Amino acid sequence: MQELTLRGSPFDQSVVIGDTFSERIRARASACGRLTPESEYLSEAERASECPDSDDSILYLAQCAELLFYIREHAPDLIELMHGVARGAGCTFEEIFRLNCQRAIAATRPREDIFTSCSAVAARTDDAGIVLARTGDYEIDPAKPKPLLPGTWDNDAVVFEVVPDSGMRHVLFGSAETLVAGDGMNEAGVSFGCLNLPYGPPRTGGGIPYNLVGRALVQRAESVEHAAQILSGWRQASRAKCWPVVDAAGGCLAIEKCFDRTGLVRAAPDGVFAQANDYLSPELRDLADHNESSADRVRTLREFISRAQARGGVTVATMEAAVRLHAEAGSLCRHGDAGRSDTLGFTTSAVLYLPEQSKMRVLYGDHPCRTHFQELTFDF
Ligand SMILES: [Zn+2]
Repeated sequence: MQELTLRGSPFDQSVVIGDTFSERIRARASACGRLTPESEYLSEAERASECPDSDDSILYLAQCAELLFYIREHAPDLIELMHGVARGAGCTFEEIFRLNCQRAIAATRPREDIFTSCSAVAARTDDAGIVLARTGDYEIDPAKPKPLLPGTWDNDAVVFEVVPDSGMRHVLFGSAETLVAGDGMNEAGVSFGCLNLPYGPPRTGGGIPYNLVGRALVQRAESVEHAAQILSGWRQASRAKCWPVVDAAGGCLAIEKCFDRTGLVRAAPDGVFAQANDYLSPELRDLADHNESSADRVRTLREFISRAQARGGVTVATMEAAVRLHAEAGSLCRHGDAGRSDTLGFTTSAVLYLPEQSKMRVLYGDHPCRTHFQELTFDF
């Protein structure tokens, strides 16, 4: 894992990203279309978009234009960030735009498979107030050997500490080569994870690319309710996602987003919410896939937290134990086996957010049951 501090305007911030990781960014931009280790587990549709066929290049360019115009109007800071990365890395804007938007364009293609991954739970703890815990999972191909796990942080993971000219100071946990950021926390403690939901309707582009939403959200949102308001006002390009969010005032909400639709999942009366990879909000219930693995993991989490509450209380240690759970149906720590426990899910990271203490506890590069959390404290 590397740490990078970014200051100033979006352009100033991202020139530093481009300069620091220039070789890797240029290599990734020029490798566009060729398989890289991290793309091994991408779907065929996602791979196809990394190098669009000449037959559909007009459609591809039209989708790029649709994204570009929408982002420029609704989150121009993302465009400035891409310009800065391009300047710092010595690439063209087009190369950096394509690098950051190709996954969102890929997800507009028709697809039948259901890609489930990642789970989250939020609860009030006795020792740290509200805590959000999430696992980082992907789904493996049973025809291939299981991926090797490094057992430590790798160089793909970067913690960005951002002190912007305007907007909220924040921390992002993201990639060195793209602006994708799936986890973050800001000075109001607004902290988010990101879970896959069933794919949205095909051929619907336009909007903020789902993998850049977190970067745009974290510098704007002053509370969980404000985050919901912001996300309601944006179209999210292509695929659907659930954004579990907590804040330093104890707010707690899961925001489900499918293209221009938004649904809110509020905590149960016991103050807990658990989410995996299916719609739970009343607003988007018609899109639910009734996925068994997702329902199993939600049940495992809810029952575990309920038992802890009945025994006298939930602590940070309880939340750490939650992401290490193994169960006959719906394990949270998944080792890639077929069957109802793991359903081919492969868990390689976990993050706990402690927004009232400006802390993250992060576990990376191995199954949660096999490694330890490291604590990061932020001085906002
Ligand atoms: Zn395990």
